[in-house]
Amino acid sequence: HAPRVVIIGRPNVGKSTLFNRLVGRKLALVDDQPGVTRDRREGEASLHGLEFTIIDTAGLEEADPNSLAGRMRAQTEAAVATADLTLFMIDARAGVTPLDAHFATLLHGLGQPVVLIANKAEGKAGAAGALEAYELGFGEPLAVSAEHGEGMADLHEAIIAAL
Ligand code: GDP
Ligand code: MG
Repeated sequence: HAPRVVIIGRPNVGKSTLFNRLVGRKLALVDDQPGVTRDRREGEASLHGLEFTIIDTAGLEEADPNSLAGRMRAQTEAAVATADLTLFMIDARAGVTPLDAHFATLLHGLGQPVVLIANKAEGKAGAAGALEAYELGFGEPLAVSAEHGEGMADLHEAIIAAL
């Protein structure tokens, strides 16, 4: 079967924008409001000739502080369990937030292959945030711009190397 690749990260980092770019159709809703994607969505991705199934995750729309950590763990575990590879996305412009660090801890605990992506890094923006992302413990962060299509050749190489 085609490899399954899931995109994980806190709301508004650009997961659905990358999903749309890889699938080439507007299957995932992108919005300025954090967490607009309500459900997990799957599409057939093509990246420089590499074909795989890509899964866009909803993240955490309702920030109920009482259930946030538990729901985050359950959603992440369920999504990662169905996948061969996890793309863990942060916003390079925002740098590493506490929620990013929480996702990192969850993903380390699951022990599945992870490629760390620092998005919104078009031009030189986000260079500092991408550097900061080393602290998450997934090796060299891949600086990309999902919106502008920068870093896609590097992403292709990283997915092949990780699968
Ligand atoms: P999600 O919640 O992680 O799925 O994030 P979305 O894909 O919905 O994107 C959230 C916001 O970030 C939208 O306003 C996007 O246009 C914007 N965005 C996504 N990718 C990039 C990027 O590469 N650069 C910049 N500057 N903005 C981006
Ligand atoms: Mg989304």
